[in-house]
Amino acid sequence: MKNISLLGSTGSIGQSTLSVVEKFPDRFSVIALAAGNNSELLEKQIRKFKPRIAAISGEKAAEGLRKRCGDLPVRILSGIEGMIQVAAAEEASITVSAIVGTAGLVPTMAAIRAGKDLALANKEVLVTAGELVMAECRSRGIRIFPVDSEHSAIFQCLHAGAHKDIRRLILTASGGPFRGHSRKELAKVTPAQALKHPNWSMGKKITIDSATLMNKGLEVIEAHWLFGMQPDRISVLVHPQSIIHSMVEYSDGAVVAQLGMPDMKGPIAYALSYPERLDGVSPALDLASLGTLTFEEPDLERFPCLAYAYDAIKAGGSMPAVLSAANEVAVKHFLDESIGFTDIPRVIKAAMDAHTPSPLRTVEDALKADLWARQEAEGIIKDRLG
Ligand code: MG
Repeated sequence: MKNISLLGSTGSIGQSTLSVVEKFPDRFSVIALAAGNNSELLEKQIRKFKPRIAAISGEKAAEGLRKRCGDLPVRILSGIEGMIQVAAAEEASITVSAIVGTAGLVPTMAAIRAGKDLALANKEVLVTAGELVMAECRSRGIRIFPVDSEHSAIFQCLHAGAHKDIRRLILTASGGPFRGHSRKELAKVTPAQALKHPNWSMGKKITIDSATLMNKGLEVIEAHWLFGMQPDRISVLVHPQSIIHSMVEYSDGAVVAQLGMPDMKGPIAYALSYPERLDGVSPALDLASLGTLTFEEPDLERFPCLAYAYDAIKAGGSMPAVLSAANEVAVKHFLDESIGFTDIPRVIKAAMDAHTPSPLRTVEDALKADLWARQEAEGIIKDRLG
């Protein structure tokens, strides 16, 4: 039996994680749950999965939950302190990190420091503080099992050869709903259109990131830290069907790919059960009925966020944190319709241009860069676009 602590239980990855747990009750048990604001769903999850502790962001919501769950042996906590206690829950052997955005960084670090292996879905944790997170994992012997489908694919493909023989990693990208749109068309797209991803069902922030290709940019940085590859050896290939989840090219010219139906339960289950594979997690792949898989180069001119991510990782230090935080702010304003779709890359570029990267020595340094970028991005939106 594997005891799981789950950060971000009411989000898209959190809910898929719980449906994997539900399908394999003799293998997994939920010890601790943490959620942001959805106390109604958290209560349902507490009743179903019976964790020992649970946390929710606001103290008021926690108080309400304590009253409603008075009949259950669960301790209900709140705030960042509560998230940290869930992340480091004593009986847990693996912590699923699925809080969206930089908010996941401090609890994820707490899990690592408490000696938990990580099933990592939150890519912003590595984008913002990859160097620090990886160093902490190395020094404590913590393993990271990637939940992001591309990184899970690469993790699987890496079993085919030695690290020294890797020529490059090839991350596939669906291209999002606006692949092939002209600049003019892009300027007019609405949040509702951007939230309709062609292949994957995901949370709001990541769906917008997929439409701008920022998601792929963040994944390049994530792959850099997870697999110790320089950015010039990580390439991105648009593959609209999302059947090949990513590939590794070896020095002899062989390319090893991982294929499957686009369903997050696959990578989640593999991260939780590695090295074993669980029976019937994802729907079977029927290549003959799919017929054709296609590929094309990403269009960096119309989707410059991907290029900015390469710029950020090459600049190093605090720059990726600035990229990620400015993006979070821009996406939030796009969703509330205060800026347009093509303003998202403008805001990120302006924030990066205004930033001189400095080395990250501590998590606090990373959080400081993150906060600076949020204020800078808010200012840019107010001054130039508002
Ligand atoms: Mg992904």
